[in-house]
Amino acid sequence: MIPRTAVTWQGSDWQNALATAIRHPQELLEALNLPLSALPQTLAAAGDFSLRVPRDYVARMKKGDPHDPLLLQVLPAAEELTATPGYSADPVGELAAMPVPGLLHKYAGRALLITTGACAIHCRYCFRRQFPYAEAAAARTHWAPALAYLAADSSIGEIILSGGDPLLLTDQRLAELLKNLAAIPHLQRLRIHSRVPVVLPERITADLIKLLSGTRLRAIMIIHSNHANEINAPVGDALIRLAQAGITLMNQAVLLKGVNDTPEAQIKLHETLFEYGVLPYYLHLLDKVHGAAHFQIDRQQALDLYTQLRQQLPGYLLPRMVQEQAGLPYKVPGEHLEDFSAGGLM
Ligand SMILES: *Cc1c(COP(=O)(O)O)cnc(C)c1O
Ligand code: SF4
Repeated sequence: MIPRTAVTWQGSDWQNALATAIRHPQELLEALNLPLSALPQTLAAAGDFSLRVPRDYVARMKKGDPHDPLLLQVLPAAEELTATPGYSADPVGELAAMPVPGLLHKYAGRALLITTGACAIHCRYCFRRQFPYAEAAAARTHWAPALAYLAADSSIGEIILSGGDPLLLTDQRLAELLKNLAAIPHLQRLRIHSRVPVVLPERITADLIKLLSGTRLRAIMIIHSNHANEINAPVGDALIRLAQAGITLMNQAVLLKGVNDTPEAQIKLHETLFEYGVLPYYLHLLDKVHGAAHFQIDRQQALDLYTQLRQQLPGYLLPRMVQEQAGLPYKVPGEHLEDFSAGGLM
């Protein structure tokens, strides 16, 4: 068990951590004592989707190791520049499911709000790395149409705040949004999808927790961690404080070649998260977004890995392996993917 840190974060701490995040590949390589030989390709890849990584996340990486599982998630790679057939800018067909700007309504009973395009970290495999946030983010002016849509459809009982990362909104904007959502009588549940507790734990201030636990909506947070090395003492502390405030915590991970594609890495991740009150939710098979093909794992390999997890993990620590399919109203269980490929959907 990682010792508790008993920290109290102020609002300015996370703003500072965000402002001082590493944005330049050379600085990242130098901080890790890595050679600069690959810098030209790295810079070219960063031109397409920029580098961004908080310094505390870099501190969790192993110096001198070019294959560090945290580094691989954020360092722009030469492979990103190669176009791969079958990979596109909108791999899960989101733009077709947006009735008003920033609101995705693909699945029954729940709708997803793109609250901002900003993230505390830029993950190279992100399926929204090419999302047209400028037109689609539910920025302040867009919330009114999204709220009106939600209010008009009483079949929607759950609102999912996504992005980008919804926890990069200031407390004031979040409070305003939650107030408007809570005023819609048929909304029961508030779900927040965020990588912030893992990459910017300073954001989990007492004020934020008060906000999230103070709404009449039942709150659940789906965090996003891919590797046990991401969970250091401040992250563990943030998770425990969220759980103690009555917020249900679950984790989604993406299965990534070279990062977490072994039974050992997956078992350690889920066991570590459970120490801090987090249960597994999804283990996503990679979405085929342009620039991420080098993270792809052979489907049979993924199925074999999952069989091993099923044999070695207690049922409550086994994530559901899924993949999103454009045009389908639910995420397809990994075990069923072969049925779908036979049907021609892959
Ligand atoms: C993934 C997703 C959801 C949530 O699906 P769950 O299976 O309930 O986690 C909702 N809306 C959209 C657009 C999604 O991509
Ligand atoms: S934090 Fe989430 S939305 Fe942001 S880049 Fe990473 S995976 Fe994408």
